Amino acid sequence: MEKEASPRPQATQTYAWLDRSLAALHRADRYRAVQPIDGRAGATVQRRGQTLVNFASNDYLGLASDPRLAAAAIAAIETYGTGSTGSRLLSGHRELHGALERAIAALKGTDDAIVFSSGYLANLGAIAALVGSPDLILGDEYNHSSLRAGGQVSGATALDYRHGDGAHLRELLETHRDRHRRCLITTDSVFSMDGDLCPLPEILDLATAYDAMVLVDEAHGTGVFGDRGAGAVEHLGCAGRPLVTVGTLSKALGSLGGYVAGSTSLIDFLRNRAPSWIYTTGLSPADTAAALAALEIVQQEPQRRRALWAHVRFVVEQIDQVLAQTATPAIRLRRLPAVSPIIGLEGPSAAAIVAASQRLQQAGLWAAAVRPPTVPTSRLRITLMATHQQAHLEQLIAGLQELLGPQW
Ligand SMILES: *Cc1c(COP(=O)(O)O)cnc(C)c1O
Repeated sequence: MEKEASPRPQATQTYAWLDRSLAALHRADRYRAVQPIDGRAGATVQRRGQTLVNFASNDYLGLASDPRLAAAAIAAIETYGTGSTGSRLLSGHRELHGALERAIAALKGTDDAIVFSSGYLANLGAIAALVGSPDLILGDEYNHSSLRAGGQVSGATALDYRHGDGAHLRELLETHRDRHRRCLITTDSVFSMDGDLCPLPEILDLATAYDAMVLVDEAHGTGVFGDRGAGAVEHLGCAGRPLVTVGTLSKALGSLGGYVAGSTSLIDFLRNRAPSWIYTTGLSPADTAAALAALEIVQQEPQRRRALWAHVRFVVEQIDQVLAQTATPAIRLRRLPAVSPIIGLEGPSAAAIVAASQRLQQAGLWAAAVRPPTVPTSRLRITLMATHQQAHLEQLIAGLQELLGPQW
């Protein structure tokens, strides 16, 4: 007798878990959705007819809306077209890419550099090329998601050390280093959600003692830290030490793309071994040219960096005053300790932080509500730009005061 085919589950049942998962995200106040803005994103943005002062951007120097970057991108499109048409090793390489890579290396003080399609892909490619299953990765527990993803793709044993804790890193090196072939220590230089710096000199000393490579992610350091704007590596006095430096073209440099900077052998090796560079289309001419123009401005206009840091000092001081002088705050906020263009105000819950960011939005202020799993504790993430006006900063302080309630 022929066996009767068991009825196939309806496609609606097979995928029904998606709606259940979304409902769970809503219940936990972890649901996220995109919010469109109209036109250029500068110190202020337009959203559905409302003007918002922009405290939610990573465009620290205000270059993403700079006409010189736009002009460079347009000129590159006119010369080279819109797409680079292939991977860099096949048809996708232009002299413009070489010029950008030399400019990055010059700023960073390294032999060479290689540009990827994004910072995320730069981390994936570099980590997967440098370590494999016989190897060990020791990473700061607050590292960016792309550093973690790189570890997973590489197949290496990946362990976290406590945030910024050199003693814990040493302990892990002592226990685990000998059991592995190569070792790679990975860290953000400026942590993207807390704004604090990694203890790089200590990390480099440990790396020397235990024969480990160090990969530092300068996504939020480049253009912002260091006298020349080279990044936190420069600021911390570590330029010139052996290091794998990763970064992005999409934050202070106002474009799109990522890079690795380092020794001639490192970069040459990555050109041969980084899958996220070899098997993807070369960076577009427009993005390449815009980043190149930005690198020039970073070095020619240190006044942008000075303005940014003056804003940081003013806002941090004012926020601390407002927090100290509110008798019974309507919401308990704690400022995270770092003094940097990334200012975190930690709150009691995801729901409270989402409500706070909505209140600020009604007051014409745009600050991001960042929640788990991106960060361990929910917070408002306020980022400053060189192009903010004093009135913008004062509006922010007034908005926060209103959120907290009357002063005593
Ligand atoms: C934003 C970011 C990246 C990713 O860079 P993209 O160019 O946006 O892909 C990597 N690392 C850190 C620390 C970041 O903040």
